[in-house]
Amino acid sequence: MAAKIISGAEVAKQIREELKKEVEEMKAKKGVSPGLVTILVGENPASVSYVTAKQKTSKELGFYSIQDNQPADISEAALLALIDKYNKDPQIHGILVQLPVPKHINETKVLYAIDPAKDVDGFHPVNVGKLMIGEADYLPCTPAGIQELLVRSGVETKGAELVVVGRSNIVGKPIANIMLQKQKGANSTVTIVHTGTPRDKIIDHCRRADILVVAAGVAKYVKADWVKTGAAVIDVGVNRIGMSESGKAILAGDVDFENVKEVAGLITPVPGGVGPMTITMLMKNTVKAAKLAAGL
Ligand code: NAP
Repeated sequence: MAAKIISGAEVAKQIREELKKEVEEMKAKKGVSPGLVTILVGENPASVSYVTAKQKTSKELGFYSIQDNQPADISEAALLALIDKYNKDPQIHGILVQLPVPKHINETKVLYAIDPAKDVDGFHPVNVGKLMIGEADYLPCTPAGIQELLVRSGVETKGAELVVVGRSNIVGKPIANIMLQKQKGANSTVTIVHTGTPRDKIIDHCRRADILVVAAGVAKYVKADWVKTGAAVIDVGVNRIGMSESGKAILAGDVDFENVKEVAGLITPVPGGVGPMTITMLMKNTVKAAKLAAGL
């Protein structure tokens, strides 16, 4: 039987409705609106479109939001000073510097410069450490979105064999850490495979997964015969595999969707699966940051 397709767009819409209400309540109770600044350095087209989408969503939810565009040749010192200005601005609860930044700027220094209390991307080492010990204030957005998709789709995570393909700092490692916590919506038995894992072992691990999260960046990598019947398959990959006649990029995930959906129990599509959740979780983190700052 074909798998149930999990619509990230629908789940994201539901969460945004919930957030909208929370924002209205905050305004009524404390006269505070969540404040988000998105800092864009240069004009990388993909970054411009990501930042535009984040701004649009934050405005729809009733945030106080600032789009701060800086030239590609801004010095590292000037960018760090700008971050410091927003660290001190009480109207701003979340600071997002769109990555990547130009090569003359040290990305690590930028991430370290953001006040951990305003680090709504969840990339500051303080927040990474808090996640590791199960005390996270802000989960990184894409992994947080994956967990929400699993929970809201009714997938049993406790005791599930959960295999993650990929160990990046933004997806693989954090989703593994989130799902192994002794917490509701987690408590899984977690394995991570990567390029150091022999291919036959990767396939063996995937085959015993009740939940398979794939974030390798390799188009259609996971095949149907790697997937256990009825497994929940979360495809994080976004790969451009061609161009349509109208000039639009044709996207594929890291999972061979057409064949895997015949074996899996649940599966996320690409596009329309994990993607729409990422921005929504950024909004959720910003609302949380504002609530923490307001003592709510
Ligand atoms: P990344 O930084 O390139 O990391 C990829 C990881 O996969 C690495 O750990 C790599 O192993 C591993 N890997 C690569 N090829 C592999 C293979 N053949 N077998 C097993 N493991 C392999 O990528 P990322 O940032 O995690 O992103 C992964 C994918 O998700 C990309 O397609 C990206 O565009 C997409 N993505 C989507 C969203 C969203 O919101 N939808 C957000 C973030 C990322 P090594 O560590 O050994 O190199």
